[in-house]
Amino acid sequence: MSGIGVKPQPDVLDVERVREDFPILGRRVHGKPLVYLDNAATTQKPQPVLDALFRYYTGSNANVHRGVHLLSQEATDAFEAGRVSVQRFLNAAHASEIIFTRNASEGVNLVAESFGRLKVRAADEIVITGMEHHSNIVPWQLLCERTGAILRVVPITDEGELRLDEMERLLTERTRLVAVTHLSNALGTVNPIPTIVEMAHHHGAAVLVDGAQAAYHMPVDVQALGCDFYVVTGHKLYGPTGIGALYGRQALLEAMPPYQGGGDMIRSVTFEKTTYNDLPHKFEAGTPHIAGVVGLGAAVEYIRGIGLDRIAVHERDLLEYATARLNEVPGLRLIGTARHKASILSFVLDGVHPHDIGTIVDREGVAIRTGHHCAQPVMERFGIPATARASLAVYNTRSDIDALIRALRKVREVFA
Ligand SMILES: *Cc1c(COP(=O)(O)O)cnc(C)c1O
Repeated sequence: MSGIGVKPQPDVLDVERVREDFPILGRRVHGKPLVYLDNAATTQKPQPVLDALFRYYTGSNANVHRGVHLLSQEATDAFEAGRVSVQRFLNAAHASEIIFTRNASEGVNLVAESFGRLKVRAADEIVITGMEHHSNIVPWQLLCERTGAILRVVPITDEGELRLDEMERLLTERTRLVAVTHLSNALGTVNPIPTIVEMAHHHGAAVLVDGAQAAYHMPVDVQALGCDFYVVTGHKLYGPTGIGALYGRQALLEAMPPYQGGGDMIRSVTFEKTTYNDLPHKFEAGTPHIAGVVGLGAAVEYIRGIGLDRIAVHERDLLEYATARLNEVPGLRLIGTARHKASILSFVLDGVHPHDIGTIVDREGVAIRTGHHCAQPVMERFGIPATARASLAVYNTRSDIDALIRALRKVREVFA
């Protein structure tokens, strides 16, 4: 059971206590203790999330928003409580501004499709950046193909920072929307969202923030950021796969047409005319991932119990330590050295393909990601096919970093 939140919160995160909440961290791989440093791909799940899923399926499983019977009411209450948890987690003004999706990708697709139909016409422009995940590139390319709109891309510097001067140049009265990541999964760069929102709004453009990576590393307040849309994905928030959330500003969501048709998203259906349900149900066609929402609710409450401020301080310490230790490895070059960075260390090693790095460190029990990280344009920008990437989360420790450094020494020996 989790002990988080039981005693008054000390300033410093008790990481050993946190680790006890994550059963998977006790397992071994290739005979070595697991060192999990692939959090940017997905995070592990704490016991309270597993318990919530088990409790839901063993105690209250039923369909939502339909039955008058008790189980259906309990399932509906649990589902809507999950929405309120996500609302509080993102500090949205209204629970109805939280739309459940399958993941972050579906959140972006929903906006590209629905906002696109409302606002985007031929020769209009969409602005994205050179450090976006494919999930925040391809939906906009599809929108542009469909409408004849034009995609503009803000370039990045050698350090992996956005060229805000270039962004200012690209923003015009034709810009309908700016889509930008809060935290780059390939480079670790944290983007200055309030500044970007101010620039975009000045030109009458809406802003979608891809928060898939940011939301488990730093506090997110959508009202303070000022953005119009913010997407998150449950499996990176220590929650289940298959569930995500889209925050949208109420007035915009109300004006936008439905994304998909089906049960729950309608008020009445006849063959002549169908009227749509209110927010948020208008955007949630069909039986939702009820258990996923219950698990996501438990996950964000778990994070809130620890406190994202404390998590950010813990991870900043680890990031500084890891940066210094990695810089000592001969022939290693960090990709992404922005001034404002979080929890992600992408690197290349002279003369060794990233795939070989990943394979050899895996034999030592260290899980990292290798490849293009769904950000091929970033790799192209830095003239490399791939990187190795270590990414941190709440349960990582300095000794995890030490294990990575030892494993990288093995890589050096193999390729000496
Ligand atoms: C993981 C990630 C996504 C995609 O999340 P899904 O859960 O696969 O939809 C999008 N953007 C960033 C920055 C990510 O890290």
